[in-house]
Amino acid sequence: MLDYQKLAELLFPHVTALPEDMEAAFPKRELPEGAKVTRFAPSPTGFVHFGGLFPTTVAERLAHQSGGVLYLRIEDTDAKREVPGAAEGLIKTLATYGIEFDEGAVIGEDGCICDKGIYGPYKQSLRANIYQTYAKQLVREGKAYPCFTTEEELEELHSIDKKAEIKNTDWQAEAEARRAEMLARRQITMEEVEENLAKGNPFVLRILADGDPEKKIKFTDLVKGNMEIPENDEDFVLLKSDGIPTYHFAHAVDDHLMGTTHVIRGEEWLPSLAKHLQLFRYLGFKTPKYMHIAQIMRLDENGNKKKLSKRDMGANMDDYTRLGYCPEAVCEYVMTLLNSNYEEWRMQNPDKSYKDFPFNIKKMSSSGCLFDFNKLNDVSKNVISTMSADDVTDKVTSWALKFDEDFGKLLASDREFAKQIFAIGRGGKKPRKDLATWADAKSYMGFFYDEIFALEDSYDEKYDRADIKATLEGFLKSFDVSDDSNVWFDKIKAVGEALGYTPNMKEYKADPTAFKGNIADISMFIRVAVTGKLNSPDMYSVMQILGRDRVVARIENMINSL
Ligand code: GLU
Repeated sequence: MLDYQKLAELLFPHVTALPEDMEAAFPKRELPEGAKVTRFAPSPTGFVHFGGLFPTTVAERLAHQSGGVLYLRIEDTDAKREVPGAAEGLIKTLATYGIEFDEGAVIGEDGCICDKGIYGPYKQSLRANIYQTYAKQLVREGKAYPCFTTEEELEELHSIDKKAEIKNTDWQAEAEARRAEMLARRQITMEEVEENLAKGNPFVLRILADGDPEKKIKFTDLVKGNMEIPENDEDFVLLKSDGIPTYHFAHAVDDHLMGTTHVIRGEEWLPSLAKHLQLFRYLGFKTPKYMHIAQIMRLDENGNKKKLSKRDMGANMDDYTRLGYCPEAVCEYVMTLLNSNYEEWRMQNPDKSYKDFPFNIKKMSSSGCLFDFNKLNDVSKNVISTMSADDVTDKVTSWALKFDEDFGKLLASDREFAKQIFAIGRGGKKPRKDLATWADAKSYMGFFYDEIFALEDSYDEKYDRADIKATLEGFLKSFDVSDDSNVWFDKIKAVGEALGYTPNMKEYKADPTAFKGNIADISMFIRVAVTGKLNSPDMYSVMQILGRDRVVARIENMINSL
């Protein structure tokens, strides 16, 4: 039997603090009854993934809806994978999508990451002494032991495990053999420890697992429901040879000390859950509630469900910015995916913020949500249709200045003109829903600008060119930009009628053969000449905004080209 006290001192002579010191340094939070403390705990290895915004939105809603706290912890224990600037990028991107942290790693005035709150440091790489205090305690209690291995050995083991994972029987046998070899190292003697330390050999600290995989732990995940998972018997690594913890160990210590009530994370962590439950038990910590959020799925070309992978369009949140989706629309879409009753609520509460929605864990889907750009576009059109013309003008302009500079400059050169255009069909009960993204603006209203105007659509062959010409000439003869819309339209009707195109749709439907066409054809002749398109916003408004000269010039050009 090892003298655990002695072993702990040998391994961690520099660690003088005790767990009680940590408990005192990180006091329990004083929060109202039922308040939830949640966190986003990214590894700063890249961009925010759509699948990451998901759990984070849940964490944000649950915390803020309950008067609790949402904090950000940077899990940077794997220095090799760290990408410089990733943490700052994550913070900024999430802020764009309505995720404001009350506490944790924040961007300071100097643009660098700093701590806000008393539970820091919020960067795991700065908490080594805290983890080691608990590691030492586990050694004292005979729950963890050193395993003298070289980095190379560890890497080799890891790669064998990986190969075994892909169900290669030979590798599975190899992995078993290596594991047995590792297990034999449980029996390390004090002399061996001393000898290794004297030689300066590095060690990893392993948990002394007490589980029996034949036995099951009953567990309730707040999203997945009741489950039974095999106990853990793997002596997994707690501290790596540089004294830095693994995710498993670090998250248990941090979530405990930082008072996390709900751990909300991707379901890829479910297979590690038995380890985590074991850790909380060994450390004497209350286990937080867990919510494992299903992976986001997408449909591939053949209509099969696939995981939305990092390389898929829509995975990187920066894609949305570039494509011109407004964050409000993306948030709205995320909410429709997260809670099955969200859309119904939205219909009843069209003017409220999504943050007023009573988010309910029970209404979450336990299997993967399906990501779909068409649905996102529909949601987005609705969201944009409720914005004011001022808002839309500013947002389209600032997007375009970044991603379509020439167009942006055109918009910015006369804001009032752009605003008048975006005001068409806005407000009222049934607002127009033309824009799903800011990028859609150019094709929707670019024709207002002579620099962009082009004949995108042409007249169908079936129309008599002479009729088109006569319509345009007739229109020009009587066109007065100061006419009100009724007078303006009556004049157009009269032009058509004189050419045998009835203004009366009822009459036309009753006997189409009695006419050359109807008022819709006449309007279309004018529309194509003025806008270059078969579809456009209300023609009267278009002409009012374009002004007399531009309308006349475009119609004359068309006449000359026929
Ligand atoms: N650092 C882990 C990750 O990026 C966090 C998982 C968790 O939320 O606990 O996946």
